[in-house]
Amino acid sequence: MITQGELWEVILVAVKLDPRFKDEISNVPGGQNLKRCFQCGTCNVGCPVREIEEKYNPRKIIRMVVLGMKERVLSSNFIWLCSACYTCQERCPQDVRIPEVMNALKNLAVKEGHIHNSFAKRMDVLWIHGTLYPLSHFDNAKRGELGLPEILSESKEVQELFKLTGFNPSEGERGT
Ligand code: SF4
Ligand code: SF4
Repeated sequence: MITQGELWEVILVAVKLDPRFKDEISNVPGGQNLKRCFQCGTCNVGCPVREIEEKYNPRKIIRMVVLGMKERVLSSNFIWLCSACYTCQERCPQDVRIPEVMNALKNLAVKEGHIHNSFAKRMDVLWIHGTLYPLSHFDNAKRGELGLPEILSESKEVQELFKLTGFNPSEGERGT
């Protein structure tokens, strides 16, 4: 039998549900098949992230989106763990594009002010170096051996693009 505490928890979750959330995500390119999910769990099997972190559960995230648990999903650390390897998308019998749904969730999370620290750090690197993986002399020497042109670490253009998007990495980490 359900306890009073459990009943209150169910009521509190129910009042926070946003029935429009699934439509919001379905309308984003890549999210259109979201509502086809029949919870088979195939996406969980073979997910390399789930293999090392069993709490990560793409099937559950999709379910939470369909149920309208917007705040819980957008503030969750788990949406940031997807490595976009596309294994689940290749296997989903309902053609739910899970990595693209995760991207839509991350974009919406940023708009709502939920920026995961790992993402903010990557943006700092991009702001400072102009690339996510700063290139060393060694990298350019290897490129030269292969007849490829040198790539210069140039962040000015990237910083201009940042300004256009309105997203600025944290002031203290810019190094400029
Ligand atoms: S594999 Fe597809 S249909 Fe099955 S649970 Fe995952 S998203 Fe849903
Ligand atoms: S795309 Fe994301 S959710 Fe899907 S298998 Fe890869 S890491 Fe897991």
